Amino acid sequence: MQTQILGLVTPIMALFFAVSFAVLWRAGRMKRHVLGFAIAYALSAMGFLVTHFFPADAFYLFHTTQVFYTLGSAVMLAAVCERVGQRLHLGSIAIVYLVSAFVLGVAVSFSDDVGPRLIIVNTGYGVMFAMGVATLLTARRRDLVDLAIIVIMAIQAADFLVRPNLTLMFERSIPAEVYRDSIYYSLIGLVLGIKGVTIAMVLIGATIAEWTKTLRDAAEQDALTGLLNRGAFEQSIRSLLPRAQTEGRPLSLVVADIDLFKQVNDIWGHQAGDQAITAFGNLIQSTVRGSDVGGRIGGEEFCIAVWNCENEPAAGLAERIRSAFARLEHPDLNSDIRLTASFGVATARSGETYEQLFARADTALYEAKANGRDRVENAEFTRLDDIAQVEGSDLTEWKRAASN
Ligand code: GH3
Ligand code: MG
Ligand code: MG
Repeated sequence: MQTQILGLVTPIMALFFAVSFAVLWRAGRMKRHVLGFAIAYALSAMGFLVTHFFPADAFYLFHTTQVFYTLGSAVMLAAVCERVGQRLHLGSIAIVYLVSAFVLGVAVSFSDDVGPRLIIVNTGYGVMFAMGVATLLTARRRDLVDLAIIVIMAIQAADFLVRPNLTLMFERSIPAEVYRDSIYYSLIGLVLGIKGVTIAMVLIGATIAEWTKTLRDAAEQDALTGLLNRGAFEQSIRSLLPRAQTEGRPLSLVVADIDLFKQVNDIWGHQAGDQAITAFGNLIQSTVRGSDVGGRIGGEEFCIAVWNCENEPAAGLAERIRSAFARLEHPDLNSDIRLTASFGVATARSGETYEQLFARADTALYEAKANGRDRVENAEFTRLDDIAQVEGSDLTEWKRAASN
């Protein structure tokens, strides 16, 4: 009776984890691999239940559990690999299954001893998990959670390969009829329980970490363009500015504003306006480098923090976006209509705050609007007052000449 109840603890726990992962997957609208964890735990629970309820001396017991455990392991491994963008080679897993199922068939028909059967099936699982670990190791992504998953999967592989051999050293032969009274059987419940819980804890931790990251990204992202929203952009550039100073790297700021945008909304409607904003955001996204930061800071206003970029190439970047946008077709607008945008560019000076840098870039943008729109104005060249600030230069004559 006691064994009966204890034997049910592991499958019930596995089912509980299956439900937990399914709930996380649904509630968090998470990716497919979280559903994979749920399916893997459900299949393992089936395997545990079969081991528990089927007659211990039935020839099909090991074959049936092997099917469930293999499917469970394959889904689990495929899911952890997919999580880091890798694909588990399912063909190789199938080959391992077929070979071990064949050898198991031979063992079942030639001997009543459970020992060899245990070694055969467990070696198969061990090899599958080793393959999973090898696949995980090829992933480029490797944070602390990824590492924990690799370690836990490697321990799983080692356990499958070593434990049956160790236990059977003490218990040389287990006739099938007394399998459930063996030391091996009482030990396996405990080991599978501990492993099941540990793996579930690591995977639940990983899933919650992913969920939090998704929520954080969503909170920082502008829904229309996928660029950072104003708050996140400002936070980002505020941390880039001192870093640029300490590392001695140039940091430039491009601000852009779509021209005469009110008319777009008025003539073609708000939705067409939204499409144009999205198109402009996509253009920024595809033009900047990974180290640059793009943000939508207002309705049709955008900013780009161009990292490690001197003034001239930053103005070049703005010019490329300007000319590409001016050529862009907008499906929601008349086919002969092209929109334009104006740009202001400034490069951070020593000790300059974000507000000061932004004000200079924004003034340049204002000049671009005043000078006829669809152009890039550079704060470092167009502002006479700024030039006068260059140390040691006496530009008073030049300024007087310019104002005449
Ligand atoms: P200018 O060339 O001087 O920039 O002219 P403009 O018409 O673009 O002037 P302004 O910047 O004042 O107008 C911006 C307009 O953008 C006002 C508003 O109707 C529109 N707008 C702001 N946010 C959104 C948005 O999220 N979607 C859409 N479709 N329109 C927006
Ligand atoms: Mg505008
Ligand atoms: Mg505007």
